[in-house]
Amino acid sequence: MNVVKAFLLILFVSFCISKQSLGQQYVTVKAKSGDGIWSLLREQGIEPNPTSVAAFKSLNEATLRGKDELLVGAVYKIASNAKVYPIFGKAYEQVSITSSKLEGHVYYIMGGHGGPDPGTIGTFGGKMLPEDEIAYDTSLRLARNLIEQGATVFIIVRDDNDGIRDTESFANDKDEYYLGGEKIVLSHSKRLRDRTRIVNRLYDENKSWAKSQQVISLHVDAYGSKVEPQIDVHFKTASKSGYALSKALRDTMAAKYAKYQPTRVYKGAIDSSANLYVLNNTKPVAVLVELGNIRHSGDQYRLVKPENRQAIADWLLDGLIHKAKGTRL
Ligand SMILES: [Zn+2]
Repeated sequence: MNVVKAFLLILFVSFCISKQSLGQQYVTVKAKSGDGIWSLLREQGIEPNPTSVAAFKSLNEATLRGKDELLVGAVYKIASNAKVYPIFGKAYEQVSITSSKLEGHVYYIMGGHGGPDPGTIGTFGGKMLPEDEIAYDTSLRLARNLIEQGATVFIIVRDDNDGIRDTESFANDKDEYYLGGEKIVLSHSKRLRDRTRIVNRLYDENKSWAKSQQVISLHVDAYGSKVEPQIDVHFKTASKSGYALSKALRDTMAAKYAKYQPTRVYKGAIDSSANLYVLNNTKPVAVLVELGNIRHSGDQYRLVKPENRQAIADWLLDGLIHKAKGTRL
């Protein structure tokens, strides 16, 4: 019996060790002439100190000349603090926390629609533009941005095989599901109740320690027909605190447009009395971000370009950082 126990213990320990080494991520860099350990670490944003230099030496023992000289052209491993999030897809799955600006803040990121409901489907250049896919891609970009700043992020609507997509067209798939594995159902009212219940349960779990908790729901608005002028990123909310959050996001958007596209007048508005189930019933502060109008060619052009979806996610991040610094929601 003791032998069996010892055997199981060894199995368990080796499992833990292999798990741990799987979790460690590396970046690899090729040494150029003139490089040293310190400069390589610095290039990767790592402060050279006795600990980081010792870690580097033990990782690269075999490729060092003497104790600490690099060989030009040799490839060196540098331990990174990146964690792997497969939900972001192969090209984006490694995420490093680069700041603690949003430490303690909790975000529930919700791509609108999903599963059997694509939302509104626009067409651009002969290709389909399903609302839920555009919203989902942007929601992942925002979620990843938030994680980099130290936030705690729950991606409520998920799709295992999409990830962040640097493409201009989207197949309308239906395999999105909720965090935790629940199916997204066809019934509109049940769908809204389900996602609200999932967020509220997590809110209760996190409320003892969270500095703030916020729901960011992403959609693309659909008017009956093309509406002029272009509608742009705009906001819907249903409470005072939701309005304050929307205003922080809207002000950031306006400032970014003023800086990067000064000739364009940004008119994104805040509808502060939106009567929407998720806004009215989630315990955390909630804002619904409409990324544009899916029927306006200007907004369509903006939304099909991956770099534009990234810019929206970056600007939303800036707004959320601004909000987190300013007040306790
Ligand atoms: Zn929608």
